[in-house]
Amino acid sequence: MDHEVVIAGGGPVGLLLACELGLAGVSVLVAERGGPQDRELMDQRALNLPTIEALDRRGLLDGVRKAQANSLKMFGLGREEEPLAHFALIFVGARDIHAEDPELARHRPFADCGVVGLYELRTLLAARAAELGVEVRYGAAVTGVAADEHGVEVDLGGHRVRTQWLVGCDGSHSAVRKLAGFDFPGVEPEFTTRHAMVELDRPELMPLELFTDAGMLMHAPIPDGPHLLGLTEFGRVPADRNAPVTLEEVQASLDLISGSGARITRLHTASRYTDTTRQASTYRRGRVLLAGDAAHVHPPFGGQGLNLGFGDAVNLGWKLAATLRGWAQPGLLDTYTSERHPVGKWVQDWTMAQTALLRPDPRSRALRTILRDLLNTRDGATYVVRQVSGAWQDQVPDLGIAEHFRDGRGVLVSPRADARLAELAQRWRDRVNVVTAEAPENLLIRPDGVLAWRGDDLIAAETAFTTWFGTVVR
Ligand SMILES: Cc1cc2nc3c(=O)[nH]c(=O)nc-3n(C[C@H](O)[C@H](O)[C@H](O)COP(=O)(O)OP(=O)(O)OC[C@H]3O[C@@H](n4cnc5c(N)ncnc54)[C@H](O)[C@@H]3O)c2cc1C
Repeated sequence: MDHEVVIAGGGPVGLLLACELGLAGVSVLVAERGGPQDRELMDQRALNLPTIEALDRRGLLDGVRKAQANSLKMFGLGREEEPLAHFALIFVGARDIHAEDPELARHRPFADCGVVGLYELRTLLAARAAELGVEVRYGAAVTGVAADEHGVEVDLGGHRVRTQWLVGCDGSHSAVRKLAGFDFPGVEPEFTTRHAMVELDRPELMPLELFTDAGMLMHAPIPDGPHLLGLTEFGRVPADRNAPVTLEEVQASLDLISGSGARITRLHTASRYTDTTRQASTYRRGRVLLAGDAAHVHPPFGGQGLNLGFGDAVNLGWKLAATLRGWAQPGLLDTYTSERHPVGKWVQDWTMAQTALLRPDPRSRALRTILRDLLNTRDGATYVVRQVSGAWQDQVPDLGIAEHFRDGRGVLVSPRADARLAELAQRWRDRVNVVTAEAPENLLIRPDGVLAWRGDDLIAAETAFTTWFGTVVR
């Protein structure tokens, strides 16, 4: 066997998963089709609370904060100018919500999560993966997959490697997903959005926001720089969705939606996406697994895809490592699908609902007007922020004990020393760190920050230890 795990795709999700596995001492090869990524102007991604907390647990938050400082400078925008969240482009700010909402108050302020550039994020994660002994091989596209009971033969464009497990983190068009026979049900797209960084001859003709029968326009002039356009056409999907976006294509979309007469004189960069919404019905087939966009695609409303993929990576990493080390209880690896698929489904519903509200027909507009009224209430705005921030997800409150998770183990935290609990935890001392710290009660927390047990019932505690951290010899 050449490797314990091969990860197809060195995007952010593949790299974070590689770090999780490397931390557990697993031998990992990341096979990335492309090269180390080029910096793009429009690669800013919003992070949510579960992501920030996960990065903090692994000591990566300081690096992300530095990367964020650079990312923000690229647009020349300060964080204060940014709204907290939106639903169907109905924006909500920090002043609109209940400041003391109990679910939000359990976490650090959502406004501090911020955005980060994909380039900076990938650079940071690749450096950490290298420190942990992970090999990232560039120019290595996965072109063939043959799995059996004991392992997987992976074809990297003519060069074969054998691995115990293969994880497809190779994005929305995932080769692994197709080659390993995963199904990918969902809905076909009904709109196309083009983002473009352009120079305009008469920018004064362009409104900042426009909704018409053909679609919608978002226009952000960058201080002392070009103009960022977001153009969404409803009912039209390009024949070749992978063809490069040209100046003519962006101009045609601008004319169709705005009819403003403004001409694009230069196209710096452009990308296109549709609202295709699909999710693999299982994230595991035998020895092949999926994570990130390979497992689920949806339009990027509300900045969810990367956060969802990071949630997959931290959920899967320790479970796969436990399986490889032989201490996982039967079924532990299958909890990856049973826990993550519903979160993926939630994101899909959240984004599809927004698509429905943005349609340019009279019924959808009427519904949007009513929703705007609801979101203009403090309860409505708080609901949106709670959902978009990920505060509703099954994480323990922020207890300020992130450093105890650095080594990738679980943590038992008790507000005061408890001899009987400490004696029980001794049996899992190579998998769980025991900490006395300010906490509302005894909490057993998994390596991914999910609560496994709480309270004083030692029999229930032993069951939780065994379920999540395996059996041990007494
Ligand atoms: C306009 C836009 C805005 C967005 N904003 C946000 C946001 O604010 N917040 C958020 O959370 N999400 C956002 N997203 C979504 C987010 O960018 C993606 O969900 C995230 O990048 C997915 O990461 P990934 O690692 O799963 O896949 P990718 O980033 O697609 O990486 C996949 C990697 O696999 C490689 N690869 C492909 N095929 C192969 C192969 N056969 N063999 C080997 N390697 C291969 C690719 O080269 C690539 O490096 C946005 C998306 C878009 C389009």
